[in-house]
Amino acid sequence: MSDKTVSAGAYFLGPKSENASWLRSEFQAVLDRWFDWRRALFADDPSPLPEQVRLSPDFLAEREIMAQRVRELTELMAGEVPKYTPRYIGHMVSELSVPALLGHFATLLHNPNNTSRDVARVSGRVEDEAIAMLAGMVGYDPAAAQGHFTSGGTLANFEGVWRARYRMDHCLSLGLCIAERSGKPLDPVASAHMDWSRFSELAAAHDISEAKLRAASSVLGNPFEIAARISEASGRDWRGPVLLVPGNKHFSWLKAANVFGLGEEAFWPVALDAQGRLSLPALNAAIARAHSDGRPVLAVISVAGTTEAGEIDPVDAVCDRLDEYRQSGLHIWHHVDAAWGGFLCAMLGGDAEDRLEAGARSALKAIRRANSVTLDPHKLGYVPYSCGAFLVRDRDSYANSLFAAPYIDRAAANDRWMMTLEGSRSGAGAAAVWLTGKTLTFGPDRFGRIMAGTIDSRVFFSRALRDGNPLVRLLEPADSNIVCFSLARPGDTLSEANARTARAFAGFVPDPAFSVSRTVLAAENYGEMINTHVVGYDGVVDAPTLVLIRCVFMNPFWENEDFRAALMPEFLARLETHIN
Ligand SMILES: *Cc1c(COP(=O)(O)O)cnc(C)c1O
Repeated sequence: MSDKTVSAGAYFLGPKSENASWLRSEFQAVLDRWFDWRRALFADDPSPLPEQVRLSPDFLAEREIMAQRVRELTELMAGEVPKYTPRYIGHMVSELSVPALLGHFATLLHNPNNTSRDVARVSGRVEDEAIAMLAGMVGYDPAAAQGHFTSGGTLANFEGVWRARYRMDHCLSLGLCIAERSGKPLDPVASAHMDWSRFSELAAAHDISEAKLRAASSVLGNPFEIAARISEASGRDWRGPVLLVPGNKHFSWLKAANVFGLGEEAFWPVALDAQGRLSLPALNAAIARAHSDGRPVLAVISVAGTTEAGEIDPVDAVCDRLDEYRQSGLHIWHHVDAAWGGFLCAMLGGDAEDRLEAGARSALKAIRRANSVTLDPHKLGYVPYSCGAFLVRDRDSYANSLFAAPYIDRAAANDRWMMTLEGSRSGAGAAAVWLTGKTLTFGPDRFGRIMAGTIDSRVFFSRALRDGNPLVRLLEPADSNIVCFSLARPGDTLSEANARTARAFAGFVPDPAFSVSRTVLAAENYGEMINTHVVGYDGVVDAPTLVLIRCVFMNPFWENEDFRAALMPEFLARLETHIN
């Protein structure tokens, strides 16, 4: 691409289907090639559907029924939430990109199942290439990184926990075997936090067989019996590992603690600072507390772009801290949940990155240092559902379900069925990402330019909102492209402000003019941030939660001046109506 910047409008259908005739011809071309492909293959086979059959009255009647039902469905869908319009600023979805739609559709017709190359000869390769593109975007070495597409961010987060647990379980099994054989006490924290090279070294030095390791694994064996052995060998009751997740976490992390059988007790929320981001002192304290309790840290999670307000945790500072632990031999798994903010990495390395605050910028740049990362192409990637992605920095970190150590070359490395939590997986999402990468490219001048536009839209909207209504109290800082605000008079109590905000939100719900969403922050996690927010209007904190109206800016057409000029005054007018 020689163009310095992208014409974003060419990559979306347009709110009035402006690009319809071009898109229709592309869909038609995709269909025609698919028809031709079928005709050309096995061209000498007889046709079971000759013309006289296809034109028979029975045949035509069946077609008529199908056509009616198709019309019925499409008419039904006309009642669907209109998420394509810039008036939709509710949840993390908007207009789909044209390459994503075409990539998805073209692949859907071939229906590949990426679980195995046996049924996805081409699609499996497309997935590899698409994963390499995303790896490059987040700063991983595309040649070393591995990963796959998932049904969404939740499953990608589960994949991270699965890998972290795989490594920890192996290391702890080895530590236990060595302690039992040598009679020296087991230090579960030190053992659980070895890395693979130390693991191989020790396994070889002590000549521990795979059978022995298997018998000491709490994933393969009886976890209660293994726990008793660990307690015995360490001279201390074994209480299992903990999962450290910032208090801004997505619900998927609690689900993970639940599903992986850690017990919700093992899910330790890390306190947030006044900006709503993971607090480093709190993280330090949590790690120290876990270790002094004799409990290893299964993984530290940081979030790049929270679901509530788009905040970006200080991923760089977390990496620095974990590097210090690494110096003393403690390798703590670090997973970045970048389901929302991961695509903002496309801005890095160009002028566009200036749109990000310095902190957010260095946090996004540090994702490359983490063991694994979750992305959600079906959010800021403008790709159809369901499409999440899980990536790891290197091959060792990808190891899972097979018990064999990662240095043993896996026989079917080309097949993903044993590397994924999910079984059958559509190749459509991978292809949608692939075609996006081939056209928009995930670099700063093109895809990154669209991301920068979403941040510009957020800035425009929050300023216009603040200047347009004296009751608007913006939640600050906003690290990405989400605007959250409450509605308060000076001196209001938090409960008065909450009631007014909730009332205004309730007014928006049946209002077809705009779709917004609502979020409620709990003082339990967001105490400092809520305090700062309420102090901003000389208010009084008398409630345990903060109610906010939330507007998500991902629609590329919010950048358009005419749209802004038409929509902003209308939004302010609707807000005014709904407040009263
Ligand atoms: C959306 C989101 C998830 C979950 O992703 P799904 O695709 O809905 O499963 C996880 N973490 C964060 C930060 C998210 O924004």
